Amino acid sequence: MRILILNPPASDGASYIREGRCMQSRSSWTELFPPITLMYLSSSLRERGFEVQLVDSVAQGISWQETLEHLLSRAPELLVLNTAFPSIRSDMDFARQAKELVSGMKTVAVGVFPTLLPREGLQAFPWLDHAVVGEPERAVVALAERLAHGADGAGLPSLAWREDGQVRVSEERDLVQDLDSLVFPDRDSIPSDLFRFPLTGDPLTMISLSRGCPHSCIYCLAPLYYGRRERRRSAESALAEIRECVRRHGIRHFIFWGEMVSSRRSVLVDLCEALVREGLDICWMGAARADQLDDELLALMRRSGCYMLTLGLESSSQAILDEVRKGLKVEDGIQAAQAIRRAGIKVMGHFVVGLPGETEETARASRVFARRHCDYAQFYCAVPYPGTELAERGRAHGWLREADWTEYDFPRALLDLPGFSAERAEVLRRRAFVEFYFRPEVVWANLRRMKPREVLKRLDFRSWMKG
Ligand code: SF4
Repeated sequence: MRILILNPPASDGASYIREGRCMQSRSSWTELFPPITLMYLSSSLRERGFEVQLVDSVAQGISWQETLEHLLSRAPELLVLNTAFPSIRSDMDFARQAKELVSGMKTVAVGVFPTLLPREGLQAFPWLDHAVVGEPERAVVALAERLAHGADGAGLPSLAWREDGQVRVSEERDLVQDLDSLVFPDRDSIPSDLFRFPLTGDPLTMISLSRGCPHSCIYCLAPLYYGRRERRRSAESALAEIRECVRRHGIRHFIFWGEMVSSRRSVLVDLCEALVREGLDICWMGAARADQLDDELLALMRRSGCYMLTLGLESSSQAILDEVRKGLKVEDGIQAAQAIRRAGIKVMGHFVVGLPGETEETARASRVFARRHCDYAQFYCAVPYPGTELAERGRAHGWLREADWTEYDFPRALLDLPGFSAERAEVLRRRAFVEFYFRPEVVWANLRRMKPREVLKRLDFRSWMKG
């Protein structure tokens, strides 16, 4: 059976990041990621003997028309389409055109959109045959095996399908319990130099260390997409993949992907010690939780090649952190940022503008906090994705704006909080970026770290203003 896994181009020519819970249109502040979910899917299907092609039209710069022509020449029997909220109309437009072009081809959507709205998606887009709820490996492999035997996907876990004119969604989820059992992601299909480490521009890939998060932050998609139980890969398995990236693909820069690299200290320690012992000379960054770090661990992480840690700090207001059930004290964030810097690692702070309780003053204080404690910062608007508690609260309090699915994007605010409008959140998010990155010392430090082509990329002022 021929299968095409596609990160589709966008009808407006924009580049979209569609990686699990990380979905947004690309801008000056964001880099494209390797499509790690699709790469895992590709290798999982290959392992089961399917004839698979993986195409990332966004990263490979393949236009809409060229992608359709490729599809026609390839004539797959199953098209697996990566989707995201901001690009969903374009994604589904592509699926429609593809379906018209290749007769008999089945289409299945993966990503956060079908995870949160499988029923609505199949109802709104009748040419879409299936939607995967959550991580896709098991569901798509099972679907492909059914299709290969002339059956359909009815009743499979983690899937939505049509039956007797009705859309049905399986209640059962099929998550990969043992992450070590997954074959390494397919890195042969997409040139390894397409993705670049921010600032330096070195070739970059992602190593998935864990899936799922047990915490209950009311705005977050991670537990909805990957589940509330954290599944963690062993240090040996991650190390073997890193070794392969270095020796076979010549990649030395990594994002360690997962909600928190720091969640299981012993596994992280084993991995870092092995990296030091093997002298692989890599550079990596990852997300950590502010209450899981200490000087000893950070020193080891630094020795193993850790360049930067991202912290979900969200706000400098304790009342807001409590309101969104972050489970952290503001002081945890301060101490973590100080310890990270002491270890010689950069701090990337993530902040959310417009969470419940936000005011002009709390937003201003968070901007000051970011400048004081972080080397880099990302600012998002609070996005009330369907199915999150944030959306439920927004609806219950009358804060939630009616919006098209494509408006669920981090530069867009959709909550009109008491005394703090959605427009104001968008304005203050842009201001936060400008205040953070246009400080002379920051401009100078970044210019010194950047390679010339990275400097040029960031001189596109239109996308600076878009954020
Ligand atoms: S700790 Fe991070 S990943 Fe987990 S629910 Fe909160 S924001 Fe999401």
